[in-house]
Amino acid sequence: MPSDLPGAPAGTPFVEARGLHKSFGDNHVLRGVDLEIAAGSVHALIGPSGSGKTTVLRSLNGLESPEAGTLRIGDLELDLARPRTRAERAALHRASAMVFQQHQLFPHLSVLGNVTIGPLRVQRRPRDEVMADALALLERVGLREKADAFPSSLSGGQQQRVGIVRALALQPSMLLFDEPTSSLDPELVGEVLAVMTELAREGWTMAVVTHELGFAREVADQVSFFADGVVVERGTPAQLFDAPQHERTQRFLQRMR
Ligand code: ADP
Repeated sequence: MPSDLPGAPAGTPFVEARGLHKSFGDNHVLRGVDLEIAAGSVHALIGPSGSGKTTVLRSLNGLESPEAGTLRIGDLELDLARPRTRAERAALHRASAMVFQQHQLFPHLSVLGNVTIGPLRVQRRPRDEVMADALALLERVGLREKADAFPSSLSGGQQQRVGIVRALALQPSMLLFDEPTSSLDPELVGEVLAVMTELAREGWTMAVVTHELGFAREVADQVSFFADGVVVERGTPAQLFDAPQHERTQRFLQRMR
């Protein structure tokens, strides 16, 4: 379970990012981002498009490399200004698993093939164990009978639930969600949010970039509001949604109503 992780005693944040800076060419997209995520908690990252939320999320998994800042995830501590060793890259990658905006399933592999390819090929875990785990996870999200189906025969909501199972099958310490429902038809959003809500209740540590403010309010323990590459304001959902302190947050929330 996530709360049993070494290096994450109760009360200590599982993730501590400090002073993240990242540029794409001349575009300075992260301008000193701080983020803390307690073990077993859900942290929602909200804010206007282009404010740097996805770049922060991808940085937690090593998919982006900020030029400056420090990052601690569990026992792993990185000074982002210096190159990572191969062992550090592997550890960072293992620490979390990402659920993408578009599910990014392989079209030529079955559902089961998609879920097991990472554990089998990258993690080189025993086949019997990987298959049994994958089928149990599919069962949990109501897709056991789709194990042999191809992604194109599934609805968008089912595909995204497979995307979540694929992340869980990697046995990460935390889950990262990058706007997991934004490409779905409105009637399919609920089934994906329901799975995420269940994972949150089970005690998973989760970082969620989302425009679903209702979900953030109901499920998140903490919310960070991003604008122009910094966290302008953070707090509990009640603090942030009911009593936002900053004018930028107030304007954003008014627009989203
Ligand atoms: P958000 O998730 O808040 O919408 P992003 O982190 O996706 O914001 O993007 C922040 C800024 O960084 C945007 O201006 C975006 O165009 C830019 N950006 C993100 N990824 C890349 C990339 N791989 N190459 C160039 N620019 C990028």
